[in-house]
Amino acid sequence: MRLFPIAVWLGTAVLTSALCTAQTPAPMKKPYGLVIHGGAGIVLRENISPQLEAEYRAKLTEARDAGYAVLERGGSALDAVIAAVIIMEDSPLFNAGKGAVMNQDGICELDASLMDGATQAAGAVASVRRIKNPITLARAVMEKSEHVLLAGEGAEKFAVERGFALVDNSYFQTERRRTELQRAQQLEAAKKSGKKSAAHPSKGDSDEADFERISRYGTVGCAALDQNGNLAAGTSTGGRTNKKFGRIGDAPIIGAGTYANNATCAVSATGWGEFFIRASVAHDIAAQMEYRGTPLAAAANAALAKVAKLGGDGGVVCIDKDGNIALPFNTSGMYRGYRLSTGASAVEIFGPK
Ligand code: ASP
Repeated sequence: MRLFPIAVWLGTAVLTSALCTAQTPAPMKKPYGLVIHGGAGIVLRENISPQLEAEYRAKLTEARDAGYAVLERGGSALDAVIAAVIIMEDSPLFNAGKGAVMNQDGICELDASLMDGATQAAGAVASVRRIKNPITLARAVMEKSEHVLLAGEGAEKFAVERGFALVDNSYFQTERRRTELQRAQQLEAAKKSGKKSAAHPSKGDSDEADFERISRYGTVGCAALDQNGNLAAGTSTGGRTNKKFGRIGDAPIIGAGTYANNATCAVSATGWGEFFIRASVAHDIAAQMEYRGTPLAAAANAALAKVAKLGGDGGVVCIDKDGNIALPFNTSGMYRGYRLSTGASAVEIFGPK
């Protein structure tokens, strides 16, 4: 298993120059910043054209900078998360909102969640089919209902009551995802009948790899720390290609795909959702920090190791109350980025060679 943590300390050093004669030291500038992801999975350089890579980088940068702009002007971590996630939901590149993967019936069913680290309020929606930006409905559930998670038709009824316009499911559907669904169903049928698919007649397990490649990646998420020391996290996804029977993944499950607590950290996860639910990944990272004082990067790596031990994979993006960040993953790549008030920033896609 490979883990690629990036941890950055944002604290501003106190200048103790001999020339500094002021009686009261200048107040320490509070760190702020955000981390984003656009999904983890089999993301290999050789599978992505330079043009597509440039498109991903540009969209990740746009999302990251939109969230950062909110923080920079003193806005809340919650608003920053929403700003970043909406841009990725609106882009057909990612498996969230427009361009989400399709279930076995060729329908896009979307999951999203949001958590406020200041109050530990949370909102989530699951299996919605007609909400253009599910992250905004997750916020409405958090702020305008007494519930945390609303699913399916009920969630859409609530959306209408709250004045959300509904879109037709065809808005989310793209040719690329239809092709992936067909491919996944061919591979599934070949697997059931014990035959190798025509695509890889003599290539060992490459059908399996192909299935993994197309079945899940592109979930989006963001975790942010604002200038007031408030943390927030949000995640949005179409789930897994060819998912069945009302399947709901980790993204709308508070404590699995999303968690935020001002006492510790904010986390958004991506990966094989069933395993992230079973390992309570996002809460586990915060709990290790709270109960044991484990540093953020070590806690995130340990949580992913638990996922790997169960047989799953994926990644997380996290930021803690002091502005440290970690973006580990145990897949071949993860679309990811960060921008911090120290000036540190990056957008990356692949793992180290
Ligand atoms: N975690 C998402 C799910 O299982 C998928 C992903 O992150 O790619 O629904």
